Amino acid sequence: MTGGELSPAAPGGGTEAASAPVTVRALVARGSGAELRVERVRLPAPGPGEVRVTITAAGVCHSDLSMVNGTLAARFPLVLGHEATGVVAETGPGVQVAVGTPVVLNWAPACRACWWCRRGEPWLCAATTAPTVARGETDDGVPLHLTLGLGALAEAVVVPERAVIPIPAGLPPEQAALLGCAVLTGVGAVRNTARVTPGESVAVVGLGGVGLAVLSAARRAGATTILAVDVAEAKRDLALAAGATDFLLSDDRLSKEVRARTESRGVDHAFECVGRAATIRAAWRLTRRGGAVTVVGMGAKDDMVSLGALDIFHSARTLRSSVYGSSDPDREVPMLAAELADGALDLGVLVSGTIPLDEAPTAFDRLARGEGARWVVTLS
Ligand SMILES: [Zn+2]
Ligand SMILES: [Zn+2]
Repeated sequence: MTGGELSPAAPGGGTEAASAPVTVRALVARGSGAELRVERVRLPAPGPGEVRVTITAAGVCHSDLSMVNGTLAARFPLVLGHEATGVVAETGPGVQVAVGTPVVLNWAPACRACWWCRRGEPWLCAATTAPTVARGETDDGVPLHLTLGLGALAEAVVVPERAVIPIPAGLPPEQAALLGCAVLTGVGAVRNTARVTPGESVAVVGLGGVGLAVLSAARRAGATTILAVDVAEAKRDLALAAGATDFLLSDDRLSKEVRARTESRGVDHAFECVGRAATIRAAWRLTRRGGAVTVVGMGAKDDMVSLGALDIFHSARTLRSSVYGSSDPDREVPMLAAELADGALDLGVLVSGTIPLDEAPTAFDRLARGEGARWVVTLS
């Protein structure tokens, strides 16, 4: 887009008095596997159709970890973060949203013009953001990249207006931030992709932020058997608090344990929230004949899933993915924000704790160890 386009006096000017590049603190990865550091970075002034958002809270999502550990291809130096809430601080020319508006960031803003957008599938938009987008520069003048065009683990972001979604004021920021990724993805996977109906049985494999959001959405959708599966026994209490009816360890007895709870059939819906071939196969085996496996986790491109040809035919199962919860964020984030505001949605169980930006690297260590649900960085 406009990477490195910094100038002391940005052309065009915004609706606010001074439109100039800003220097902010951000969580930066200098390379795959490199130590994460909070650095000062320079962001351009918002150009036409762009806004600067002051971040108030940003979640640490597994996809950020995948960017730094090599699972997903990324360019560096890279500002991490793509799940955040904040307040519009400055607007470029031609922008509708007002300064002061609280917003949630959208990492897949739809173009509304391509073939997929026109047929009502904006989550598959042909113009979807690349995993990393060149924008701004480091304090020592190196061109910078932003995770999913946002780079939200920072004091501010400069993004297209399409990438912000207004929400009501006064929501707890550490919960509102999660609407932008984990919750939209988890709720959408249940409501939009799998379309879980009352009385159905569900298994959720992998209990990070998204998996826990799937559990609670399955409970709210009226599923009556909700089996939470993880390799870590430590996730048991979290899973039950999030809405699971049972917690099962992911080991070689898993299939048997699931069948013991589903009249020997397997579940109607299995949700894979890890993004690995092994867990996709596990989810497949937990599902009944004619059931559906929904892959929510984003895996590596060389991690191949192998299924038997006869098994595919005989099991009559459906295997599909849920990209960004098969959702239209512009419509569904405000709905979820309204549910959060009136108490119908409580995301407290998903938030393991809030930490300052300087401690964000420790949240990545905890994520890598599979500890807790979501760690959220809060900024003033
Ligand atoms: Zn995410
Ligand atoms: Zn589109």
